[in-house]
Amino acid sequence: MTLGVYEELGVIPIVNAAGTVTRYGGSLMDHDVIDVMREASQQFCLLDELQERAGIRIAEMLDVEAAYVTSSAACGLVLTAAACMAGSDPERISQLPDASGLKDEIIIQEAHRMPYDQSIRLSGAKLIQVGEGKAGPEQEMKSAINAQTAAVFYLANKMDDSSAVSFEDTIKIAHEALVPVIVDAASEAPPISTLSRFTRAGADLVIFSGGKSIRGPQSTGLVVGRTDLIAAIAANGVPFATIGRPMKVSREEIIAFIKALDLFLHRDHDADLNVWDNQLKHIETALASTEGVSLRRFTKGETYHVPLLALEFAEGTSASIEEIHDALLAGAPRIAVATHLVPGSLVVNPHSLQPGQERIVAERLKAVIEAIN
Ligand SMILES: *Cc1c(COP(=O)(O)O)cnc(C)c1O
Repeated sequence: MTLGVYEELGVIPIVNAAGTVTRYGGSLMDHDVIDVMREASQQFCLLDELQERAGIRIAEMLDVEAAYVTSSAACGLVLTAAACMAGSDPERISQLPDASGLKDEIIIQEAHRMPYDQSIRLSGAKLIQVGEGKAGPEQEMKSAINAQTAAVFYLANKMDDSSAVSFEDTIKIAHEALVPVIVDAASEAPPISTLSRFTRAGADLVIFSGGKSIRGPQSTGLVVGRTDLIAAIAANGVPFATIGRPMKVSREEIIAFIKALDLFLHRDHDADLNVWDNQLKHIETALASTEGVSLRRFTKGETYHVPLLALEFAEGTSASIEEIHDALLAGAPRIAVATHLVPGSLVVNPHSLQPGQERIVAERLKAVIEAIN
């Protein structure tokens, strides 16, 4: 038997029931995406010309003002911050990450802090956290805006958090002070409306991962938004010697991303929802008689429609979430499930599960839970 490319290196592939998680590879590219990637890799072009034409094409596809392909959503965080601080001014661009003399404050709500926000600081920007005081979140956000404010940051998957400043109010407060709003919607979608709803509702720059829901190369990302700010992102990016230079996106990745986006926009999303629903039904049926575990279906909200299945364990059961997670990942075949989506629960996210793999997941989940409990 010949070994696969992973096994040959001693790396064991996993069954991904955790969703479009970057650590596991996010998503799988369609064969058509790989085909254009191969074709694009066999010729040269001017990378900045390609970026500009790609942006125009993507803006048409999504009906947004402008677009730019980055090397990831994390790169989108760096470049949107850089664009809001330095604009397209060559001197300012070359001084980053030293932000002295520039507007360098980016306002972020406490509830929107996330591990990736280090990427915002990588640009040289300072994060100004609001939302802990007594004044009320809206008043606090208003008071935090001053002459040094470069942007207000908003995390899209917190749309349903009623204790935080709403997306609409964030736009209103920031725009009254002529400050742009940056939205991180990296892992949102489907529905495809997520790709344009934030810019439609007034966001100045919106960030997505290219290798999560869109199924492009894992090393890509997308920023859509205002023409002047997208031009500033391009000026801060590859192929120039700028803060964005270590975050290179290659010509074949850009071409492949456009193909993936085109396929994503024309996918039968209802059929996908149906497949995911059936996969979860299979797992629910298989675990129905397993003691100590209760099953709960849920969705994350209006910007992410993929059905999710939470496994909750009765108090007093000996297994911890981590134990079960680790046992699944150490087993054969290796299976990844999510522990980060609901505190205290294991979550099966079928987004990156391949057809038929739900049987393996159900079987292994049942065996591991029964063995540990
Ligand atoms: C995944 C994720 C990122 C990082 O995305 P990459 O494309 O892997 O860099 C950033 N922000 C949020 C909210 C994410 O979910």
